[in-house]
Amino acid sequence: MSNSTNCLFCSRQAVIKNKQKFPVCSAHKNEDIPEMICVCKEILSIKEGKFGAFFLCPSCGPISTKKAVEINNMQKKDPQRTITVRSDEVDLI
Ligand SMILES: [Zn+2]
Ligand SMILES: [Zn+2]
Repeated sequence: MSNSTNCLFCSRQAVIKNKQKFPVCSAHKNEDIPEMICVCKEILSIKEGKFGAFFLCPSCGPISTKKAVEINNMQKKDPQRTITVRSDEVDLI
């Protein structure tokens, strides 16, 4: 049962819940979750369940918080290194 939850807004450990019942770190406790979009582009509604708050898509059903954050790119990660694709010269037959 040592399931540590990360803050929705950053990758720090969540220690508190905001007023929407989402786990957040102390720095983000007064932040509201913005409108979240599902992979299918539907707007997710916030529901509160037995295990805490989660997102519900009208067509996909429940979406875990982690997934919703991933979809909406909320947690700023290190900027990905630009991979330069070297297009090898194509040999024309
Ligand atoms: Zn945070
Ligand atoms: Zn959906």
